Amino acid sequence: MVFFTASEKEILDGRTTDIYFVNTLEALKNGGKDRDKVVAEFTADTFPQGYPWAVFCGLEEFVTLFEGRDADVYAMDEGTVFVNKDKKRIRAPVAYVEGPYGSFCEFETPALGLICQSSGIATKSARIKKLAENKTVLSFGIRRMHPAIAPMIDRSAYIGGCDSVSSITGAETIGRAPVGTMPHALVVMFGDQRAAWRAFDETADRSMARIALVDTYYDEKAEALLAYGTLGKNLDGVRLDTPSSRRGKIEDIVAEVRWELGIRGFEARIIVSGGVDEDEVLKLRDLVDGFGVGTCISNAPSINFAMDIVEKEGKPVAKRGKLGGKKQWFRCEHCYNFEVLPWGAEPPMCCGEEMRPMLKKVVGHGKRLHAPKSATEIHDYVLKQLEKVEA
Ligand SMILES: [Zn+2]
Repeated sequence: MVFFTASEKEILDGRTTDIYFVNTLEALKNGGKDRDKVVAEFTADTFPQGYPWAVFCGLEEFVTLFEGRDADVYAMDEGTVFVNKDKKRIRAPVAYVEGPYGSFCEFETPALGLICQSSGIATKSARIKKLAENKTVLSFGIRRMHPAIAPMIDRSAYIGGCDSVSSITGAETIGRAPVGTMPHALVVMFGDQRAAWRAFDETADRSMARIALVDTYYDEKAEALLAYGTLGKNLDGVRLDTPSSRRGKIEDIVAEVRWELGIRGFEARIIVSGGVDEDEVLKLRDLVDGFGVGTCISNAPSINFAMDIVEKEGKPVAKRGKLGGKKQWFRCEHCYNFEVLPWGAEPPMCCGEEMRPMLKKVVGHGKRLHAPKSATEIHDYVLKQLEKVEA
């Protein structure tokens, strides 16, 4: 093993599961119960930090995990913005896996892992994008997490609403070009900001914006003016990655940089990065053109989905604290009112129309029923829904 990661085969073979599911399967086989048919429900009891809504992400991998198994899968569309409980405090199911329990028992652990983390990242990304309004949000956070999951992090960040991503593998996954400016290391290696910016301008692909990093050695205002003096018309903007020890009032530093460049005739794009979170976005959104968001998105709290058996051999069952029976959740596409009802119930009415049933069959007898959607299609679906909710 070169890195401490599981291979795709190990995941598909159930090697990343908890041992108690292996014990369970053995015991069920011994007791002749492993072929009993169940309906397993995926719900989230609470959202992190009291979020009012979350974004469902990770469905593609979830479907892949159940392909070829003796199981049916129902789920809502990837990118759906959902609330954890309806007004009657019934949890909204995000997915169901149905079939003989022994055919998927061991996959509870990886199935949850695939949707919990991606949904957490997509949700944080959506919250940041919603607060940033029309300003650009770039996902910069892969460096804080294991490199093996860089594609998943950047895909989830993009689906949640980030405009672009920094990793090469992540950008490939979503079919977009990676976006980035320059690190402090470039300036440090040249030992001279002007030489570094010039070298970047001469070598970087023409499609890349000329955004100069302007806080390496001097004050942001001094370096911003130096960058404009050096690259002139070639300069597109500046990035402030001001260290926390020098921040003071970052909003005033940004305003000062914009003013000083402005009176010299340069309408700069100003990007702020470094420890950007929801509070920072609220504080700066009217002053900057974009944000580079790192750890806040890549290390977002997971959505704590759980899997519970809610039907056995066609009869409702449930442990204490959970509700028996398969359910559907309906959303009013006008006001986003939503309601959870027993499976098969007629769609309720809201705003003069039938509410939309959100769960549909995505895997039948182990076969995927729909072609995968592109990340951009899912990203656009999320942005459309964000117009209707408050952060
Ligand atoms: Zn309505």
